[in-house]
Amino acid sequence: MGHMVQQESKIKQFARKNNAFLQKTLEELSQIPAPSHREEKRREYCQRWLEQFGIVSQSDEKGNLVIPYRLKEEKQNLLFIAHMDLVFEDTVPLQIKKEGTIWNCPGIGDNTANVVLMLFLAKFLKEQEPDLEQGILLAIDTCEEGLGNLEGCSALMQRYADKVSGVIAFDLYRDQIYTECIGSVRYKIAVCTPGGHSFADFGETNAVWVLAKLIERLYRYRTQGCTTYNAGVIQGGTSVNTIAPKAEMLFEYRSDSAEELKKCKMYLEECLKEIQKIKDVTIECKIVGERPCMQNADQTKIEMLSEICREEIRKISGICPKKGKASTDCNIPLSIGIPAVCAGFFRGGGAHTMEEWIDISTSEIALEMALSVSCALAGRKKIDK
Ligand SMILES: [Zn+2]
Repeated sequence: MGHMVQQESKIKQFARKNNAFLQKTLEELSQIPAPSHREEKRREYCQRWLEQFGIVSQSDEKGNLVIPYRLKEEKQNLLFIAHMDLVFEDTVPLQIKKEGTIWNCPGIGDNTANVVLMLFLAKFLKEQEPDLEQGILLAIDTCEEGLGNLEGCSALMQRYADKVSGVIAFDLYRDQIYTECIGSVRYKIAVCTPGGHSFADFGETNAVWVLAKLIERLYRYRTQGCTTYNAGVIQGGTSVNTIAPKAEMLFEYRSDSAEELKKCKMYLEECLKEIQKIKDVTIECKIVGERPCMQNADQTKIEMLSEICREEIRKISGICPKKGKASTDCNIPLSIGIPAVCAGFFRGGGAHTMEEWIDISTSEIALEMALSVSCALAGRKKIDK
């Protein structure tokens, strides 16, 4: 027990001493663009940051950064992961606006703040060398967002699936913890017709009209349970006096159930077949993104991980995070039966919008929570047993 108390106070001390430096790091990193598939500038920053403390990180073919800490044999390791990519293109200005304790910047909470916590977790392990029952693999990964398709995490799980007993993703904000995942399938659907002159060729099939018809049909679908769909982007046509020869859209389904997602896919196929019967229409339908649902993951082990996280967060902040569902890096381990939870530590909100914000006055406690959660999880007996 005495040992526990000592370790807790070391964490507190570390958080207090490093708080100003953490805020400075967050400020710097927030301003570096990192769209999915083009994260190299953020990766370089993180690598240099780690190097100044003599922390060696390895990068792989997907651009993930990995930092091992006392890795053990077989499945006696935990993977802590935070994605470095943002939903924003590199043309979006990433300037922090400060108002009181609120820092506003696109991507600041999803996921810059969590990447910074991961850096400081690496620094903590290097300086304090805590004795833990499990080995730790820290990863700052790429391509979590949107059409990044969880490619970074997929590559990591391919490499380390037989080494890790559980995965903890640092993502989003403090008041929720995600113990279930949402799978999705995303399509790019293009309608092509011969087109023509709006007056001279009137009566020829118009691609914009066909696409609108398709969308209307797709929106007649009655979903079951936690299943949704969305036509997110449409474009097409040539001019106001041209019968549109091409129109396309991005369309997605999301669900917490693999079976429901399958039904959605079948419904879409049916609709496409129907629409294809219209004169002179060709349709190209391409899957541009697919995120797996949960499959064969042990609910008891997920529960154990999430209870440890919630308890540490509650002890330190007085807040007991609610359990929720989301689409995160956890989809990948959960789809292959490895328990995973996703937690955030800063107070914040507005993910994926220009108005995204965090409360910087929660930074010290966020760091304390991230370190405590990590040590508590890795300090416990192998959760596989
Ligand atoms: Zn995120």
